[in-house]
Amino acid sequence: MATVSINLTTGSIQKEEIIVGIDLGTTNSLVAFINPDKNPQVINDTGKGVLVPSIVHFGSNGEVSVGNEARDFLISDPQNTIFSVKRLLGRSYKDVAGYQNYFSYKIIDDDTESLVKIKVGDAFYTPVELSGLILKELKERAEHAIKTPVNKAVITVPAYFNDSQRQATRDAGKLAGLDVLRIVNEPTAASLAYGIGLNPEETKTIAVYDLGGGTFDVSILQIQNGIFEVLATNGDTFLGGDDFDRLIVNYWIEKNNLQNQHDLPQQELRLKAEEAKKSFSHQNLFNEKVGEIWCTIDLETFEKLILPKVQQTIDSCKNALKDAGLTINQIDEVVMVGGSTRTALVKRMVAEFFNRPVHDDVNPDEVVALGAAIQADILAGNRTDILLLDVTPLSLGIETMGGLMDVIIPRNAKIPTKAGRQYTTSIDGQVNMKIAVYQGERDLVKENRKLAEFDLKGIPSMPAGFPKVDINFLLNADGILTIQAVEQRSGVKQQVEVKPAYGLTDAEVEQMLMDSITHAKDDVQQRMLIEARTEGEQMVYTAERFVQKNVEYLAATEITDTLKLVAELKESLTSGDKDLIHKQIDTLNEFTKPFAERLMDQAIGTAMKGKSIE
Ligand code: ADP
Ligand code: MG
Repeated sequence: MATVSINLTTGSIQKEEIIVGIDLGTTNSLVAFINPDKNPQVINDTGKGVLVPSIVHFGSNGEVSVGNEARDFLISDPQNTIFSVKRLLGRSYKDVAGYQNYFSYKIIDDDTESLVKIKVGDAFYTPVELSGLILKELKERAEHAIKTPVNKAVITVPAYFNDSQRQATRDAGKLAGLDVLRIVNEPTAASLAYGIGLNPEETKTIAVYDLGGGTFDVSILQIQNGIFEVLATNGDTFLGGDDFDRLIVNYWIEKNNLQNQHDLPQQELRLKAEEAKKSFSHQNLFNEKVGEIWCTIDLETFEKLILPKVQQTIDSCKNALKDAGLTINQIDEVVMVGGSTRTALVKRMVAEFFNRPVHDDVNPDEVVALGAAIQADILAGNRTDILLLDVTPLSLGIETMGGLMDVIIPRNAKIPTKAGRQYTTSIDGQVNMKIAVYQGERDLVKENRKLAEFDLKGIPSMPAGFPKVDINFLLNADGILTIQAVEQRSGVKQQVEVKPAYGLTDAEVEQMLMDSITHAKDDVQQRMLIEARTEGEQMVYTAERFVQKNVEYLAATEITDTLKLVAELKESLTSGDKDLIHKQIDTLNEFTKPFAERLMDQAIGTAMKGKSIE
């Protein structure tokens, strides 16, 4: 492997190396890079097209397909065809419970706040693994097209993604064998693609309107000294171009008097509707057939149909402005993102609302990936004209259950910066919590560098999962890290200061980074096993306690069968097979759920909440 040297004040890579920009979308994903002429360019792997539908299909004999090939299985094999996985990234079951119906595949309901999993046949996949497969496909396409190994990337996420969703995106990149140099907000990337924010002297306020396949968001950004700050975001995660298609299908059904016909070729109609919608970019009338059904619609009718949906997005723009405390005339630029902004009515209404022409020259499907490539180029140190702020060269985090590293401030974060997260206890009556602070990129703390360790003492005795311990990291401009732990209910508090860079040579930092790249895949795999084990152990603990506390209310067979499943789960914990562990957790869950519901035991529900340190 080529050696790389890292500039520790900028975090930039010195050697000329390709860093790609990736737009990991809900509907479509794509990858871009800076070509030898120094222009951002999307990658079009011979004949495969630029957009890779964000869809993964698992075949019956183990073959996995991604993109267009996988899309063909949406109709013929829906249970094994995973789409819109971005909606599940970094989310717990409770976050997504309300919209299981939206998905044709099975999301595991283990009724906890742990992250969701997806069941395909006998196997379990996490959204991180599935997104990892999409990223791997993009990486391979890039390597094939530009004939160079691609190991580093900048990946974009919506501005409203939380820490857990961002971390999941990083992990997906790692699984795909990519060193994720930075997670960038999609609206920031889109602005960069238009050259907005590249001049450090200018201060600007911009609105980025992003209407994709299934989601809509608008972000108000302030750019000052080359720093992008998100002032407000608004939107609807279930509003997009798919709704336009549905409206057209319903219109055709009505026009052909097919309301009572049950065997309609729904999917064919949907695809035809999308074709009609796209055709309005260059014609005013669409007139075709699906079987015997006339699919006719003109532009005027289409615009009437979608008007209420577009109006909804305009209302979101109003709310975003209000939240940012701004008026329309304080917006300097409006940037259009997402395939659905090709719709003329959308452009007209957005321009009218903001009372100015919108930026729409760059292809709206590609604009985010192109901007990510520009950001990657800046990180690579190829743009000397751009001021780069000091960044932290290694991630900072704490140890969580099973010896895992939980990153609080990611590598390459601009400093000064602050970040925090809430933790809880895993044992009833736990009054002390050990907080161990580490630096490094590996998933297991034992491979990272320990910076500090202290005990938060005097937590009042409470059941596991009840204490709320906020851990906050503040890294100031001098590189001093202050770690503060506060238990919210009691107010007990503890604080320490360290200097992460102290005693660390540049060569050591480089070595740590190189190791993390070499071990990335194994590390993530190991981490997923540990996470499964931790979840399994908690489940064993909860189930055993549940039986103990409710002996008198349970039938003898219920007790023996539960304990048998607990024993099987325990056995699986020693197996090293995370899928088996998930399977046993699921089985035990399914089995005990009816009694748990019957007994309405509060403790069982609460015992597993939150992330616990130890
Ligand atoms: P996401 O960001 O959610 O992955 P995209 O930005 O790729 O989504 O947008 C996909 C949506 O754009 C789809 O609903 C697609 O039908 C729509 N779209 C693509 N081209 C056009 C067009 N010419 N006119 C209207 N909608 C379009
Ligand atoms: Mg998008």
